[in-house]
Amino acid sequence: MINLVLFGKPGAGKGTQASFLKSEFNLVHISTGDLFRNHISNQTDLGKLAKSYMDQGDLVPDQVTIDMLENEVDQNKQAKGFIFDGFPRTEAQAEALDVFLTKKGMKINATIALEADDDILVQRLLERGKSSGRTDDQDEGKIRNRFDEYNSKTAPLRTYYNNQQKFHSINGIGTIEEITARLTELINSL
Ligand code: AMP
Repeated sequence: MINLVLFGKPGAGKGTQASFLKSEFNLVHISTGDLFRNHISNQTDLGKLAKSYMDQGDLVPDQVTIDMLENEVDQNKQAKGFIFDGFPRTEAQAEALDVFLTKKGMKINATIALEADDDILVQRLLERGKSSGRTDDQDEGKIRNRFDEYNSKTAPLRTYYNNQQKFHSINGIGTIEEITARLTELINSL
């Protein structure tokens, strides 16, 4: 079993790359952003709660996010491994994930960061916002707030995973295929 965390700022390409890697390595892809958006479409209570944070570009509170993620892992008992995309995003989430996986005899094998400059990411997100319909991608102020959330709450996870010797970085600039090739080479070397 191999369990990967795809790490990086909004727009770094985590979702795009996860969809290639899941078929390449036969993994279940769990994106907490996608799960929240499904809840919003289905107008669940969790969706209503999440929307109030997502609309501002703020993180959704840890406990509801952790509970949703754990529930999703539990629903995929046959999985050969997971790609976690957009989770964990805080130290509390990373700790909860470690505790949860350990209980199941599982672990994170590697956390892989897709690196790119903010200005490139803003352009990518604004471009994506034109077709995705995601309101959090259509407003530069909200995008910058998501980066601030990343810098203050998510970036410290580099140290968290470095201390576990699981942190790896990939250059996230290039064609989709080039970045997939870099990721594949890294994962094969784990
Ligand atoms: P994403 O699709 O990963 O860019 O996530 C979109 C939004 O969903 C984020 O800006 C947050 O509001 C929320 N979100 C997704 N994943 C998490 C997480 N792990 N913790 C807290 N909020 C999250």
